[in-house]
Amino acid sequence: MRVHETLSGVRPDTVLLYPKWLPGTHAPEGPIDRLAGIKITANGAPVTWTRDPVDVFAFHVHPAPGVKSIDIDFDYLSPTSSKVGPIEITRDILLLEWNALVLYPAGYFARQIPVQASLTLPVDWKFGSALETMPASGRETQFKRLSLETLIDSPVYAGRYTSRLDLDPSGAVPVHLDLFADRPELLAISPEQLQAHRNLVQQAYKLFGSHHYSHYDFLYSLSDQVQQNGLEHHQSSEDGSDPEAFTEWSKTAYDRDLLAHEFTHSWNGKFRRPADLWTPNYNMPMQDSLLWVYEGQTQYWGQVLTARSGLWSQQQALDQLALTAAYYEVQAGRRWRALQDTTNDEIISPRRPMSWRNWQRYEDYYSEGQLIWLDADTLIRERSQGKRSLDDFARNFYGIDDGSFTTVTYTFEDVVKALNTVEPYDWAAFLRARLDSTATPAPLDGVRRGGYRLVFSDTPSELLKAHDDQSKRVNLLFSIGVELDDKDGTVLEVLWDSAAFKAKVTESSVIMAINGAAYSADVLKDAIRSAKATKVPIELIVKTGDRFRVLSLDYHDGLRYPHLEPDPSAPARLDDILAARK
Ligand SMILES: [Zn+2]
Repeated sequence: MRVHETLSGVRPDTVLLYPKWLPGTHAPEGPIDRLAGIKITANGAPVTWTRDPVDVFAFHVHPAPGVKSIDIDFDYLSPTSSKVGPIEITRDILLLEWNALVLYPAGYFARQIPVQASLTLPVDWKFGSALETMPASGRETQFKRLSLETLIDSPVYAGRYTSRLDLDPSGAVPVHLDLFADRPELLAISPEQLQAHRNLVQQAYKLFGSHHYSHYDFLYSLSDQVQQNGLEHHQSSEDGSDPEAFTEWSKTAYDRDLLAHEFTHSWNGKFRRPADLWTPNYNMPMQDSLLWVYEGQTQYWGQVLTARSGLWSQQQALDQLALTAAYYEVQAGRRWRALQDTTNDEIISPRRPMSWRNWQRYEDYYSEGQLIWLDADTLIRERSQGKRSLDDFARNFYGIDDGSFTTVTYTFEDVVKALNTVEPYDWAAFLRARLDSTATPAPLDGVRRGGYRLVFSDTPSELLKAHDDQSKRVNLLFSIGVELDDKDGTVLEVLWDSAAFKAKVTESSVIMAINGAAYSADVLKDAIRSAKATKVPIELIVKTGDRFRVLSLDYHDGLRYPHLEPDPSAPARLDDILAARK
């Protein structure tokens, strides 16, 4: 991408910054390693620049005295291989984030820097964005003048095969689903699918009682060529999924809570934001201590709204919750590491590949956070005898200032106070116990109080089976403790202290043979079934690099897959939580 900027108001000691701390990623992830061809001029004459040796995201610029305006040219080299980074451009789709394409002057709040942006796309491409445009003139699209903050919060998706669907035809505020696909036939959406997406908008309004945008666009890529993104903004979101999300609807339910998750962020994360995460510009460090609210509660509402809108059946929502609950039952990392400490994970390792992830724990504030909010929701329902719920918290906390998108920050104390307004309780102690403890059982009180219990059977849920088939994975985490690549037996994950771990199976090794027979998922599953009745270990031949090992897998509990089973000892509160609001 070729970038040209004109910057006025420069001084002899101007410092230009490249955005480093990116909203929504909560991390110092600005792709500074992808800039090339930087050239700065004033009235056509070169201007020298030097990079700050301590802060490599800062450039010192030394224009001659009297120069008021400089021109900046550079190229942004988006990855051409997924080994370098997520793919942002193919011959059919572009995912454009403005933070990658801007150098801005130090010393200002981003919201106080006015910007006039324009964009030239390939011929015949269409784009989607929350940006508002000026009347068109030729191939260049001119956007209305706005602040740097709103520009960076308003990405552009563009492509060759696109479709724009109205998700709120009779609403006061437009909401659109902008689709960008690898192939035109992937854009086919059924009336039922469209209706479920429309329901999502209405169910969110019923929950929050407000909106914090003047229009909203889901920028949604159906592609296995570009990054499958999930990133929130005030008036739009970046969403990416399996290219067959619509055309293979019944096989792609797993993780279908993405759109509801990112939509919820318009309320929780963008409009209401943790105070220590709010920063005046992109080069001031963020602190992530409240991500268990920002992401955890968003994960909770994302799945609840997915069920309430009909994007999931109730059974699919229960099946997804069963997988989450079961994972925390077997995850070893919680033995040593408090959930609160995981809020630092984006800063420690911004989604780089890692080994032994379940022993390290990683970003558990999302899904364990979700379980804690289910715990809180069912506790409010129990204590108030069904009169109040976390829906009341959502309306009180996010429903203020309807129509405004000026961010209102919150602290831990604000969250506790808002919970107490709904239901008096020692919420500070409730939350701190769950955030700061180690070596405690998985937080499944909400499942139990919701009228269910976690059980295991030798058959996977429909949701998990479809996911394994579609993604070509084999999930044996809850039995021998591994997840495999179905095609060739490559070990994607090994649970710490599981039977496979004790047999010395390592991540990235390849299972070549089981009891002397060549690898297939069915051969392995048959061996696990057969070993249940015996004391004989399963023999594995495993390849690591170019070395082979024969391993002895001493496991006799058969296949195990998680499910939620009704538990009549508590009212079916979870059924009510997942039911559409009238
Ligand atoms: Zn999120």
